[in-house]
Amino acid sequence: MNLILMGLPGAGKGTQAEKIVDKYQIPHISTGDMFRLAIKEGTELGKKAKSYMDQGELVPDEVTIGIVRERLSKDDCQKGFLLDGFPRTIAQAKALEDLLADMGESLDYVLHVEVPKEQLIERLTGRRICPTCGATYHVQYNPPKVEGKCDKDGTELIQRDDDKPDTVKKRLEVNLEQTQPMLDYYKQKGYLAAINGAQDIELVFQEIDEKLRSLSQ
Ligand SMILES: [Zn+2]
Repeated sequence: MNLILMGLPGAGKGTQAEKIVDKYQIPHISTGDMFRLAIKEGTELGKKAKSYMDQGELVPDEVTIGIVRERLSKDDCQKGFLLDGFPRTIAQAKALEDLLADMGESLDYVLHVEVPKEQLIERLTGRRICPTCGATYHVQYNPPKVEGKCDKDGTELIQRDDDKPDTVKKRLEVNLEQTQPMLDYYKQKGYLAAINGAQDIELVFQEIDEKLRSLSQ
């Protein structure tokens, strides 16, 4: 079960990743975790990646792909993997296919959790934070008992700059621009599975599960 998980911020990718991992016992491999592990283990590639990151530079593809190869070769990937945050470019996508072919494997699905932009904006701008205790709320999905006040200490809740509409819209647009070529590419290759993320969390997982069950038989 070789999977890639895609979706814009706020689409609920993290929650679905947890459910997939839980049910199918494959590792959830995010780019960040992969780099951290390689650096912690002190592999040659990990050291290379760290030297770029320490200088605030982008890690070149050859290093990143090497790290992906190391990670996918580990024992816990025998039943498959759920990649998240990689590949980011068409070049990386092609390198991944070559790498998998080398390993005698291939991709099964690119799961794309789709949520309309308007709804993402609603989800992402609804977050409120208590500046005193750090508790987080959502005006719609997890509102405080008294509007605008923290349940624990009554402090006036604030909206972080990151959660303000203009910032959120900008972030979504940048993300969309980056991911669209990948989606087109995987669609053309026949790997793309569109999942309706604009419904209840359990129903989203049901849709994913239906796709995956056919693989595990
Ligand atoms: Zn508080």
